[in-house]
Amino acid sequence: MRLKFIVLGIASLGLMSMTQDRVVVKKYKTTEVQIPAASSEKSGNWENFPFPKINFTNESLEGNGAYYKELIPDPEKFIQEACLEVCQCLYEDVSKIHLVKEIDYKVYDYKGVSAKSGHGEHVSIAFSSSYLAEVKKKMSEQQIIDEIKGVLVHELTHAYQLEPKGIGSYSTNKTFWSLIEGEADAVRIRLGYTPYEQRKVGGSWMDGYKTTGFFINWLATKEDDFIKKINHSCIILDKWGWNEMTMLYFNKGIDELWEEYQTFLKKGQS
Ligand SMILES: [Zn+2]
Repeated sequence: MRLKFIVLGIASLGLMSMTQDRVVVKKYKTTEVQIPAASSEKSGNWENFPFPKINFTNESLEGNGAYYKELIPDPEKFIQEACLEVCQCLYEDVSKIHLVKEIDYKVYDYKGVSAKSGHGEHVSIAFSSSYLAEVKKKMSEQQIIDEIKGVLVHELTHAYQLEPKGIGSYSTNKTFWSLIEGEADAVRIRLGYTPYEQRKVGGSWMDGYKTTGFFINWLATKEDDFIKKINHSCIILDKWGWNEMTMLYFNKGIDELWEEYQTFLKKGQS
């Protein structure tokens, strides 16, 4: 079950939105999966990557946050490395990235999982140490580190991803929202922080999160560097749409591709 709350406020560039992501906790197990091609994932002068400054605070060090410190002894490095991984997934070249100069990252007790707020070069990410205490009962230490990284990668994708043009905003347009949340989970899946056991038959590409994220990864098995391309489509298309995007890269409509994907999933089940 995922819950999403949107907090609207006035920012200098318009509406500031906050996404709050709740993830399903499942036991990880290994399986044979189809991983998209990663041909040029690390080309593009990544040694010049502009690591953002990380302002890290842990407000629950005396309580649930102590476990975060135990698991992640160097959070600044942990977050900076995740920034590089996310950008290598979203962009072909370091010169093309949407620049983020500073990230405020706060660990504290609250009801939820993680949330990103702010736009542009300075963003804020919250991570719930209450959630950490919750998963501690269900997961191994390595699974929890992967979960912290996976949640972080999802939120960092929001910090670095391009936004679709000509269709309103995250909080007013479902297509906009489905791309933003689907792409964030697509990056998390691509980087190996969501088990393929969570991929399911059914739903729609408009559902966002994992449903859209696994679909994007399946499309990436048909088109090299597709995650970079779907991100780049936000520059190419003046009025972004799922159909317009798939026509651009596959010369097929979104309905046809979704049907092919469903057939592929059903075959895997039999
Ligand atoms: Zn999100």
